[in-house]
Amino acid sequence: MKYDYIIIGSGLGGLCSSIIMSKENKKVLVLEQHFKAGGYLHSFKRKGYQFETGFHFSPELGNGQILRMYWKYLGILDKLELVPYNSNHFHSLIFPDMKLDLLSGLDNLQQLLIDTFPVEADTIVTYIQKIKEIKQYFVYFNANHKGDMDMEHKSFEISISDYLTSIGASEKLKGVLLAHSYLYGVPPKETPLGTHAIFFNALYSSSTDIKGGGDALNNALVESLKENGGEIHFKKKVTQIKTENKVIKGVETEDGTFYECDNIIFSANPTLSFNMFNEDIFRSTYTNRISEMENTTSHFGLYAAVDVDLSNHKNDVLYFPDYNIDRLYESAASDMPQDAFLYYTVPTARLGVTGDNKHLIETISMDNYNNYTKWSKTKFGKRPEDYTTFKDKIKENVLHQLYSILPEIKNKVTFIEASTPLTNEHFTMSPMGSIYGIKHSMSQMRAPIRARTKLNGFYYTGQSLIFPGIVGVTITSFVTCSDILGQDYLFNKIDKEVKGDF
Ligand SMILES: Cc1cc2nc3c(=O)[nH]c(=O)nc-3n(C[C@H](O)[C@H](O)[C@H](O)COP(=O)(O)OP(=O)(O)OC[C@H]3O[C@@H](n4cnc5c(N)ncnc54)[C@H](O)[C@@H]3O)c2cc1C
Repeated sequence: MKYDYIIIGSGLGGLCSSIIMSKENKKVLVLEQHFKAGGYLHSFKRKGYQFETGFHFSPELGNGQILRMYWKYLGILDKLELVPYNSNHFHSLIFPDMKLDLLSGLDNLQQLLIDTFPVEADTIVTYIQKIKEIKQYFVYFNANHKGDMDMEHKSFEISISDYLTSIGASEKLKGVLLAHSYLYGVPPKETPLGTHAIFFNALYSSSTDIKGGGDALNNALVESLKENGGEIHFKKKVTQIKTENKVIKGVETEDGTFYECDNIIFSANPTLSFNMFNEDIFRSTYTNRISEMENTTSHFGLYAAVDVDLSNHKNDVLYFPDYNIDRLYESAASDMPQDAFLYYTVPTARLGVTGDNKHLIETISMDNYNNYTKWSKTKFGKRPEDYTTFKDKIKENVLHQLYSILPEIKNKVTFIEASTPLTNEHFTMSPMGSIYGIKHSMSQMRAPIRARTKLNGFYYTGQSLIFPGIVGVTITSFVTCSDILGQDYLFNKIDKEVKGDF
């Protein structure tokens, strides 16, 4: 059997690309090294409790918002039960001397900020206008497919930190506006204004959970792939990409199986592909440049079941010990990063309690892979005692921090599990357990990784290219497939099928 396209990796990027290409009547096969689909978006079960790894909420799923357009085209919108967050209070930011309950909609936010920082009203209006304006430049983020490439590029020439300083924002206001930089994992002084603006627009569009979480999304994507004639094989780690005279012949998996194909879309971190070729394909200047790119930070995850009623905790909470977000990233790179930042969500408050009437809490704090390198060659499930001791110490730290912002759960935790950067690396193969792949920083985005490569028929997609996150990765798949099919062709097809009804 010869495939038109083999997609390496079944994360969101791989699955979206596989559906787009199978909708073109191409014979498509997805190969995934893990035993289930979804990459970072999968969930795991312990003691009957289901916890999410990389899915907590998605922006842009409100009526008429851009992700609905793409998901409708992918055929998954009707397969999902969407559970919107409360638009009047979707997130809370907690700083040492202030708590802010955030509400959806940039105009609503503008009013909230003006009420909170009245002397900075002009700065706030200037900022919100700029954020709205920048979105208009990005073709893939606008349902009318209009944009302005020159202005888009210009928005990458200044960091969000420098921009906010230039309009006179105070340290406190900056802290509030930059709090969500954890969604793309880049310190504000390194983040292009354009990247920040895209995330900020998305974040305040709307927030939506999905009944069944990441698994429900993955199942819907796989179902749609199969409905369009595509296939997916699990426990198939691709180890070689075979070419003859620089023409793609196929791929080989760890168990020695060869799959013949004409084209390949590689959806994991691009650096993982460089050692897979049997011929010299890329110049060393290209592979060295990309291999030297910095990855985003990793994280420490804490997953708990508690015997206390948290049904009012429908909003996500972000805790910061400091308004200086750049300093928090520096702290995250230290050897005890868990004192830096904490995000928690209570999915059961939105989706319903567990069978034994417990609430679940999922937390994320930034963590530094370097603290774990000495155990990087040890195997998942068989790591040594000193690793477990270290992990337990961090677990206690995070738990302690969680108690300080959610005291009602103290002595009520009935189950607890944790993940480290090594866990991330094991399950997703993301180098250094990086949360969002290659860092979308000013210096690295000057020459970003392109979907199309020098090897005819070999493409990249996924979070390391353009934007991470559910919106970013979905859109990146459309960008990759536009490179193959033509942008006008794909947009016309989307318009014809979706008919503006999303
Ligand atoms: C803790 C955490 C919380 C997050 N929360 C949110 C959130 O609430 N909302 C949001 O929008 N985003 C969130 N994100 C981000 C989002 O999950 C990711 O941006 C997105 O899932 C990345 O998708 P991807 O396809 O690019 O990569 P991945 O999910 O990493 O997929 C890559 C796939 O390739 C496979 N693979 C790698 N190498 C091979 C090989 N050789 N052969 C076969 N298969 C291979 C991997 O197993 C994996 O399945 C979160 C991320 C993390 C880590």
